[in-house]
Amino acid sequence: MTASFSNLSLAEPLARAVAEMGYESMTPIQAQAIPVVLTGKDVMGAAQTGTGKTAAFSLPLLQRLLKHENTSTSPARHPVRALVLLPTRELADQVAQQIKLYAKYTQMRSAVVFGGMDMKPQTIELKKGVEILVATPGRLLDHIEAKNAVLNQVEYVVLDEADRMLDIGFLPDLQRILSFLPKQRTTLLFSATFSPEIKRLAGSYLQDPITIEVARPNETASTVEQRFYAAQDDDKRRVVKAVLNQRGIKQAFIFVNSKLGCGRLARSLEREGLKTAALHGDKSQDERLKALEAFKQGEVDLLVCTDVAARGLDIKDVPAVFNFDVPFNAEDYVHRIGRTGRAGASGLAVTLVSPSDMRLVGDIEKLIKNKLQVEVFPLEDDRSREQSNDGRRDERREPRREERRPERGFERRRDEDDSRDRRSSFRPAQVSRDPFFEKPYEAPTAEQANAASWEASARTVSSRPGLSANIKPKRKVAALFKSGE
Ligand code: AMP
Repeated sequence: MTASFSNLSLAEPLARAVAEMGYESMTPIQAQAIPVVLTGKDVMGAAQTGTGKTAAFSLPLLQRLLKHENTSTSPARHPVRALVLLPTRELADQVAQQIKLYAKYTQMRSAVVFGGMDMKPQTIELKKGVEILVATPGRLLDHIEAKNAVLNQVEYVVLDEADRMLDIGFLPDLQRILSFLPKQRTTLLFSATFSPEIKRLAGSYLQDPITIEVARPNETASTVEQRFYAAQDDDKRRVVKAVLNQRGIKQAFIFVNSKLGCGRLARSLEREGLKTAALHGDKSQDERLKALEAFKQGEVDLLVCTDVAARGLDIKDVPAVFNFDVPFNAEDYVHRIGRTGRAGASGLAVTLVSPSDMRLVGDIEKLIKNKLQVEVFPLEDDRSREQSNDGRRDERREPRREERRPERGFERRRDEDDSRDRRSSFRPAQVSRDPFFEKPYEAPTAEQANAASWEASARTVSSRPGLSANIKPKRKVAALFKSGE
């Protein structure tokens, strides 16, 4: 039995919006979270990216807020009732767009505020009154200080991507914002991981939360085929192009670890005639939104990006994600590949592994608890294989230090998300050592398996990092990179 939205008794305007979105059945997080949120309880939810999390909290939240629905033009009749906090502007923008769609047939007003944009239009919108406010913490604090946002009637607060908010160092901001909210409220916290820090945050701000876990945190989406190809730095572009050709894939995200590398790679792919855009923290907000839009419209085929784009961006049908650089932080791997295989669609994630990256691949293995096999992708002249086989060490240029530096802290720039300087509170992300993740994987119950049927129809590719029919079996990586790498 699949969980259907019709079992929820959603109000007609919400049910109509859901039907219009073409959703046939609930995703597992929706099936579990919506009934709980409808009861008004606090929730601590762990869900993979792209699992339908936004609808899981916004539909029941809208349903509960419908009692306040009114057509009055008086701002006083439209105080903020629900606050949704997210770590990045792109995510905030995306979640706000989805909420607008779900609330389309209601009288509920929603708005989004994030940094890097003029405050004036945001102020005008806030002053008119909105029931649902989506925001990044820094800009919200600016509006609170300017008395544009009054939060004393907030009934619901959603902390989405809470682990990322903590990584970015938003904890002091979060605490300040929460201090402006009424004590009596419902708090919904969503996070990809339940690290000890997240648990602490939940412990101080949630009351008897119901914990919801639909898939083990850090598990990668089952609809993503994961491939790891050994590639020397100079061969990586050719491998990307060859994979795209071989699989007949038109569009992809290509992740790199640095802004510098991002611009450089985008330029060289462009020179090779591929329609490419770069998305990184040094781009203005306008440029970033334009690049995303161009990708969505199909005007751009390859979006080369740093981890600024790795979290939660929901672009439908991204068929492939390339990790041109193996991420320094294993958790970023999960988020990067979460850009493909969303909401049941199948996807391909290719990670290009140079000899010095083996330790990072080991970190990913540990995190996702899956043995990974690094294969050789046969290029036409197979230079990479020859080089590895004859035992010569890679004498090519190692990337310079600044190229390899992870783009951590880009959100800290003054002209970006926040007008205040939070450098002091910035802490690099840490791989969770939560004992929760040490638990062996437990197969889903029959009920969970049924709930997952929404994605089953689209699961056409191998979910485990095994070999597909297209790829010849390859030697073990040790044989390619020799020892000591
Ligand atoms: P989210 O995890 O909220 O970013 O959602 C990922 C994508 O899944 C979005 O494009 C949603 O429109 C889509 N989605 C959400 N719920 C469902 C559903 N029940 N069936 C199909 N697609 C969905």
